[in-house]
Amino acid sequence: MKNFLPAGYLSDLSLEHFRSAAEAIPYQQIQHLLFVEHDISVWIRRDDLIDPVISGNKAYKLLFSLLEARASGQRKIVSCGGAWSNHLHALAAAGKRFGFGTVGIVRGERPARLSAMLQDAERWGMQLQFVSRADYRQRYKPDFAASLGYADACWAPEGGDNDLGEQGVRFLGEVIKHTSPVSFDAVYCAAGTGATARGLAAAGLPVCGVPVLKIPAEELQQGAQGLDWLEGMHCGGYGKCPRYLVEFQRDFELQAGIPMDPVYTAKLLYGVCQQIGYGSIKKGSNLLFLHSGGLQGSRGYP
Ligand SMILES: *Cc1c(COP(=O)(O)O)cnc(C)c1O
Repeated sequence: MKNFLPAGYLSDLSLEHFRSAAEAIPYQQIQHLLFVEHDISVWIRRDDLIDPVISGNKAYKLLFSLLEARASGQRKIVSCGGAWSNHLHALAAAGKRFGFGTVGIVRGERPARLSAMLQDAERWGMQLQFVSRADYRQRYKPDFAASLGYADACWAPEGGDNDLGEQGVRFLGEVIKHTSPVSFDAVYCAAGTGATARGLAAAGLPVCGVPVLKIPAEELQQGAQGLDWLEGMHCGGYGKCPRYLVEFQRDFELQAGIPMDPVYTAKLLYGVCQQIGYGSIKKGSNLLFLHSGGLQGSRGYP
């Protein structure tokens, strides 16, 4: 495959090391007939290459929580997520790499056969605790971890969506500002919790988040400086992957030589390519797509 790039490896838990890893991430310009026809130049920043298992935006969202846990002498980090959570997967990998015990609180009963993601997490030493859906709904309460017996552990919320998570993405945004090969008119990223989009905007980048799930418009942070949303590109809802998306992803991967995942990055590209096709993006624009990783999640799809 063309555009073969070596992946990095996050070997030390320090700001300096993460910064140099982030600075080494390549930007690739994508040649595609659609972009030529509309006179738009499209680049992808390959944060899927930041580490083979501490994937993409999750590496940045975890960085400051990991640093804080280390500084305060905490040995255990607890978080929660679904059976296909990229966040739990990255946390388990980071815990093993940097010497923290990890606990993943997972919604629902333990299945006879764990998802490929949770199998990895368990292999990397994450203790999985399954809780009922009713208990899982309590996860935003401040005493959630304590009520499950983890009062002394460091808590990271679902998806890494807290101030420390946003701070990590802001740190990525600063790196993007001084490593960009051209001046970008917009930086597009897939949005789940929206923390990645908010963090990049906080760094002063012109950001457009593309929600991959049905989020009521009022739950998206509107009117923030430099932050916009491209709604209605969820292709049926979170994790839904209709035939047209499968085909789009396959064609795009072949043309661009860049792997994507169906849950986040394929929807991001699909949504923005549709806007370009409609002529809604100004000619002559330079666009940046953030490849936020998540390729391990493709194992949930045939
Ligand atoms: C989690 C994830 C996202 C969503 O990030 P948010 O900060 O929750 O919006 C985007 N892309 C990939 C690959 C992810 O794993």
